[in-house]
Parts: sequence; C-alpha cells; structure tokens
Amino acid sequence: MKDCTKPTGEKVEKRKRFLLDENEIPRHWYNIVADMPTKPQPMLHPGTKRPMTVEEMSPIFGEELSRQELNQKDTWIEIPHEVRELYKNYRSTPLVRAYALEKALGTPAHIYFKNESVSPVGSHKINSAIAQAYYAQKEGTTHLTTETGAGQWGAALSYAAKVFGIEAAVYQVKISYEQKPYRRSIMQTFGAQVTPSPSMSTRAGKDILTKTPNHQGSLGTAISEALELAQTTLNCKYSLGSVLNFVTLHQTVIGLEAEKQMQMAGEYPDIVIGCFGGGSNFGGSAYPFMRHTLRKGVKTRFIAAEPASCPKLTRGEFRYDFGDEAGYTPLLPMFTLGHKFVPSNIHAGGLRYHGAGVIISQLLKDQLVEAVDIPQIESFEAGQLFAHTEGIIPAPESNHAIAAAIREAKKCIKTGEKKVILFTLSGHGLIDMSAYDSFLSGDLQDHELSDNEIKKNLTD
Ligand SMILES: *Cc1c(COP(=O)(O)O)cnc(C)c1O
Repeated sequence: MKDCTKPTGEKVEKRKRFLLDENEIPRHWYNIVADMPTKPQPMLHPGTKRPMTVEEMSPIFGEELSRQELNQKDTWIEIPHEVRELYKNYRSTPLVRAYALEKALGTPAHIYFKNESVSPVGSHKINSAIAQAYYAQKEGTTHLTTETGAGQWGAALSYAAKVFGIEAAVYQVKISYEQKPYRRSIMQTFGAQVTPSPSMSTRAGKDILTKTPNHQGSLGTAISEALELAQTTLNCKYSLGSVLNFVTLHQTVIGLEAEKQMQMAGEYPDIVIGCFGGGSNFGGSAYPFMRHTLRKGVKTRFIAAEPASCPKLTRGEFRYDFGDEAGYTPLLPMFTLGHKFVPSNIHAGGLRYHGAGVIISQLLKDQLVEAVDIPQIESFEAGQLFAHTEGIIPAPESNHAIAAAIREAKKCIKTGEKKVILFTLSGHGLIDMSAYDSFLSGDLQDHELSDNEIKKNLTD
C-alpha cells in the first residue's frame, strides 16, 4: 500500500551524525585488565628482573599514572573534573555513518566511524595528553619530556602542558622532524622545545650517532632520549603517547562514547577496527565493546590494522623486550619486532613502533583480537576514497583502519551480509599533505619485509 501520509517525492531523512550532550561525556575510563580472564604478565625491572612496583615507576611517570598502569582490580577509574572540563572543548566527537563510502563500495555493510580528527590538535592523542599533564601538575611536576613520531603526540602534549603551566621538551624522530615541519611549528607555537632525535643532547643520542652517524631516528631512539632527560632533570617526568596501559585507559573515552552513540543509531558493531601503532586508539575504541564480549560472550570481531612494513602483531614475536632503543625502559611482555628494529620511512609515522602494548599483546595471544597488515599504497588508496566520499582527508595512520574496514565491507558484497562495521578515524591528514603528494605523484612504495629482516632483530 502506498503511504499517503508523506507527500510523494519526499526523500527519506537518514541520520548522518550522532553526538552526545556534554553531560553525557563519560565520567569514568574503563580498565579492561579488571575483566581480563588472563591478566597480562608483569613488566619487569630492567636491573632486578622483578615485577615493577608503583614505587619504582613513580619517579619516571608520577604516582597516579603508575598506579593506573599497574591497576588490575578497578574496572572504572574516575575521570578528574578538570580533565572532563577540557574534554568539553571537543567532546563528544561525532559518530558518523559513512553512507557515501558504503555507496561507492556498493556494500550492504553499515559503516560507521568515530571521528577523533575533530580534536583541536587533529588526533585522539589529546585524550591522554590532557590527563597526563593534569596529574603531573597535581603532583608538583614542572617539566615533562616526551617522544613523538609524526608529531601528533608531541602537539597534543605541548598543548596540554601549556594549559597546566608545565614546560614540555619533545624529542621528535629525525625523519619526521624533516618530513613534517608544520608539526614542529605547532609544538613550538604551544611553547614546547623540540629536538630531532637522535641528538647530541643526551648520552643515548650520542651513542646512537657514534655508531650510526646518519641514523634517521625511530620512536625507540626518541624514547631513550626523553627518558634520559627526565631522569637527569629536577621535577621532570616522562610522558608517553601510546603503548602503556594508562594511555589506552584514557583513550577508552572514545569507545565509551561510541557505545552510547551506536545505541542512538540502534546498532551494535559486528566488527570494531582501529589502526595500530602502540595500541592506544585501537584499544581505546575496542575495549569498551570488548567488555560485553568478556562478560556476556557478545560476538564482536576486533581488528587491529598495522602497516605491512612494521608488522609486530602479525609477524612479530611474543616475548619480553625493551620499549626503547637504548634499553632504559622496563622489560615489557609484548609482541615485538625487537627494540633495535628501525621501520622503513613510511608516512604513517605514528605506526612506526617496534612493539605493541602489554594488554593488547595478551588479548592477541588469547585470540580476542585479530590483526591485519596493510601495504602503504593500499592504505593511501583507501584514504583517498574516504576523502572523495566523506570529505575528510585522513591521517596516513588512520588510512590503515579505513583500508581494513573497506576489506571487510567488500567481503559483505560477496556474502550479502549487512555487517555493522565501526572504525576509528584517529586523526586528519591536513598536516601530512607531503605524504599525499608522494602518493599522487606515484612515488609511494610498499616496503615488504623479508623473514630474514624480521629475524635479524629478534635474535640477539
Ligand atoms: C599516534 C597515532 C596513531 C597510532 O598510535 P596508537 O597509540 O596505536 O593509537 C594512530 N593515528 C594517529 C592519527 C596518531 O597520531
């Protein structure tokens, strides 16, 4: 029967974006460790090889963050009032249904993305930067040091430090410092001091440069230098933008919002996807949904998308390894390519890290998450299609999540299934246009790694 209540020719209004009221911004972060059937193995002190304690970690990270890092029993951790107030500057971030992308692919799948690129610094990193700077100020810290790759984390921390009246010193991976000059300007605009790593300003940097004079830098070298500066400077703590448990904890604000927003859309994801550097945006997006898998057996697939040139999840080894080049960090039980691994110069600087977070590594071992590796060119093709259809130019890192989502959506064409796919758009690419330039001019390459290259850094 014809519906006579609507004038003929009227188009159906489809809801495109789902936003939460300010008072619905989460009040707690979700600590998945409390719900994990197999707890992650402990981090070990590099000297004594005994499990790290809060007392041992506090001089480096501060007390509250160290407590969060080792907390295995509290499922919910309150977001401090001051942090929530700053979240209001840009949260909630939109959950968006990618109708145009679905149409371009011709897929019956429903594709949603959680748009963290709307944050003032352009990525999800700010969610943890604000929290880390807040705790630092509260505990009397006056200086923070950190590492950064493409500069997303450095930019977020520089801003957060400024808000809380803290001096920030950032070691940026040298190749990115040169490839992405505007990120350096952003950090400097927020008042941070930026040094390309490896540099001559630390013993670790000098050692690396003596051995390899034209070392291009890696997150591993930058972490060593930032840690060394923190340990040799008064009232100075070290911040980290990924990998550690407390970073991913802060990022669960993404998934907790997305959960409510998916409810508004009347759907629940069959597949949750995030790109993978150290695991913070992936974990932050996936864990809130995974709690229903752990508690109630809800079947959802969780896919971490890493670059084929830095494949620690798909081709690395699970073992204890250092988080940095010089071996200053605690030993972490994780999937790793070896702490001396230097990834090729792909444009997704934020994904060029040799290891994976401790929680995610355990979850991968327990087969609660899956991992895929994406070649660089496929990632940019996906990013360009996303730009054409949704009008947003994604960060090169985020392109890996989009490519993985497209792979899944294409499978649905074959099977006819209307799977609900949710991925996180971790950042925009407006400061990464040199990467798109190389892609558009055909200069971009896929960097395949041989088994021997992978083995080399894992046998010491
Ligand atoms: C840093 C970064 C990543 C990778 O880090 P994770 O901790 O794995 O999330 C991904 N996307 C963007 C935009 C980043 O800045």
